[in-house]
Amino acid sequence: MKRLATAAIALGLPFGANAGDPGHIHCNSCEAWNVAQKPFKIVGNTYYVGTKELSAMLVTTPQGHVLLDGALPQSAAQIEANIKALGFRIQDVKYILNSHAHWDHAGGISALQKASGATVLASEWGARVMRAGTVEKDDPQYDAKEPVHFPKVANVRAVKDNEVIRIGDVAITALMTPGHTPGSTSWTWKSCEGGKCYDVVYADSLTAVSMDGFRFTGGGGRPDVSGSFRSTIERVGKLKCDVIVSTHPGFTDTLKKLAATTPSHNAFLGGGCAEYAASSLKRFEERLANERR
Ligand SMILES: [Zn+2]
Repeated sequence: MKRLATAAIALGLPFGANAGDPGHIHCNSCEAWNVAQKPFKIVGNTYYVGTKELSAMLVTTPQGHVLLDGALPQSAAQIEANIKALGFRIQDVKYILNSHAHWDHAGGISALQKASGATVLASEWGARVMRAGTVEKDDPQYDAKEPVHFPKVANVRAVKDNEVIRIGDVAITALMTPGHTPGSTSWTWKSCEGGKCYDVVYADSLTAVSMDGFRFTGGGGRPDVSGSFRSTIERVGKLKCDVIVSTHPGFTDTLKKLAATTPSHNAFLGGGCAEYAASSLKRFEERLANERR
């Protein structure tokens, strides 16, 4: 590790120039985030295959599977092992979808893409960032002094708002939800079980986290993005939503719901998009008030 970027550490962002080894990212929270988590079923053909504090989701069909997110670079082997532990093959993953192209959600995608041969899908912004392996200047967490690098991803295709990805009998819709990054994307699909089908939402981060000096209200040559961020939060709050899992599972109590699930009661089926949006909006408005002070 070289010098420490104190602003970055305060935010839990990576520290030490990692350009030499983008395959392993060091940060204050990384070890805790990457603790192993036994994979589990959410509902129907939807499974959680991420780590204890970084989500990755698997949606299965007889014609091939979809993986959402890859967590940290060092999480990839764990995600692959989790897919195997559920009885599925990484080689059958045909698409890997990304929520946002930060190192803690896209870092593992390069290795998982290589292992599966899957096509990676993301927003235009996310696709550019993953091809480059580092964020662009308009990212709230862009660090001009020590840009964070993660493994570059090959074979990325950009998707548009409301674009539908079909595989087997599953249709997954991309929802552009900019704010946390300019290219943030949430994804929704239906999973069926016991004769009922449920709307599942994989919701992107709605936190206004930034480096020092970045203002969501604009200034310093940057546009005001607070209006589009607020629209994103409102959009997530209004989604058809029987099940929600967020990119950091704790944001939507994923492991608490797992603990509360029994053979006769699936605690994931309680919705939660409106609550996630409401708590996110409250924090967002506090952030904006601070920026105006
Ligand atoms: Zn992020």
